[in-house]
Amino acid sequence: MTIRKRRKNYHQRLHALTFVLGLFLLAAGIFYGYKVFTDRQISADYSTRQNQTVSPKNLSIPTKSVSLSKIKNTHCLDLINSDYAIQEADEPTLWKLSAVNGKIATLEDQKIFLQKPAQTAVKQLVEATENAVGGNIALSSGFRSYDEQKQLYAEAEDKSFVQVPGHSEHESGFAADISIQDVEDVANSEQSVYLRENAWKYGLILRYPAGKQDITGIANEAWHFRYVGKIHAWYCTSQNMAYEEYIDFLKKSGGYTQELDGITYTVSYQTPKNHKLQLPKSGKYEVSSDNTGGYVVTSWK
Ligand SMILES: [Zn+2]
Repeated sequence: MTIRKRRKNYHQRLHALTFVLGLFLLAAGIFYGYKVFTDRQISADYSTRQNQTVSPKNLSIPTKSVSLSKIKNTHCLDLINSDYAIQEADEPTLWKLSAVNGKIATLEDQKIFLQKPAQTAVKQLVEATENAVGGNIALSSGFRSYDEQKQLYAEAEDKSFVQVPGHSEHESGFAADISIQDVEDVANSEQSVYLRENAWKYGLILRYPAGKQDITGIANEAWHFRYVGKIHAWYCTSQNMAYEEYIDFLKKSGGYTQELDGITYTVSYQTPKNHKLQLPKSGKYEVSSDNTGGYVVTSWK
């Protein structure tokens, strides 16, 4: 082979290489451009979604600024656990839990008291469970005073099921223990399964579910139900969230809109600004503190 031919081959190879390199760069450029475009689209979608829920100003309903001192606080969304003590100033108004069609029983004939929405919800859930699966169901605990909780805590040998006084949901009047009698495996009994699957319909949640002890600090209690209201109970149950996780979710998302059984709920998480919250100008709504510094405004139509 002559030098000239070799040089020609060399030039041909160089051209081919440049061509392949060019194609590669073009492909990389197209890919990069596409990626930037889609990333931008994803973040645009995300911020749109956030805008719909994060800022109370963007609630789908007109709002007005209202001073905290003029707002009725239901307290039914207060987070109460080992980190957050119950607010001492809040004396609950209590109602005796009386028999539903003469069926509802209490252990040792105790008199059990709860706040009104919890009283109604627990009655209805127990009645529905008895009608659906029967069994021997009895309420074993409702409201407890600080002193009663103190005594219970002192007497408890296994403290993984008992909160320290000042930190028990029973002191709020929003929690009840629904006991299943005459079954070997309480947590897997027909009654417990029915209770935990249907509690949300009445605004109740199983507060200390299995597998969440590292979050709630309390071992699985198949019997302890807490009133939070229907939409919140539905969200926790359908998303398998412990209540601590739900409050955390509300703080991060700012809230959400959800249709449930023909009603559109708008839930907005707010931190007061100048001791004021943004409330709907009209329509039905409720306000509850969350006991961690924020407020939850629940409106529905
Ligand atoms: Zn309990």
